[in-house]
Amino acid sequence: MGRSGACGSGGLDAHVGGFFIAELGPGVPRGGIIRLPGDIINMIMRQTRIWRLRELVFLGILGLIDHVGSSGLMMAQSADLTSENIVIRGILVCLNAEGREAPCAEGVHSYGLKDSSGRVYPLKADKSLDTLRTEPRIQSKDFQLTLRPIQNSSLFEIINARFFRDGKLYEFYYYCEVCNIKTYHPGLCMCCRQETEYREDVVK
Ligand SMILES: [Zn+2]
Repeated sequence: MGRSGACGSGGLDAHVGGFFIAELGPGVPRGGIIRLPGDIINMIMRQTRIWRLRELVFLGILGLIDHVGSSGLMMAQSADLTSENIVIRGILVCLNAEGREAPCAEGVHSYGLKDSSGRVYPLKADKSLDTLRTEPRIQSKDFQLTLRPIQNSSLFEIINARFFRDGKLYEFYYYCEVCNIKTYHPGLCMCCRQETEYREDVVK
């Protein structure tokens, strides 16, 4: 149970395209995941400063948040959501317009993760990919990514990112100590708007 922060949402753990609900009110299963489109996530990021998470869940159940669906929140246990995900270890490579590995120079079209057999998993361009490409403190190109295939597309969405450095597997995140909130992209805390701090831990 996280400490409550300035906006009372301690335990909120936002990741790619979804919220992991670590702390919920009575009657709501713990560890539920709400899958929401990116624009809704951004809206929630802003609104979290005003609303408590519980109210967000309540509004979702009432269908007051667009895109949540007529059946209310699409809640599922982690296992259900991860069943179609794959975990791939590989290096980030640049891809040309045909989706083939290309030198990382001008004309780079997109990025992919290449595993040890040479298979390339093309990656959706989003904040998670940007973070892997631009975070200098990772100091590694050897990643272990949890990927979700995007329907009707050859692309994969990054669900979770870890990396190997000197033979050890690390997880990393951006942390706000004031609010006890972890996010997976650099920038201001979604709650108190102070700069978050890069942290990494060896995965045991
Ligand atoms: Zn904060």
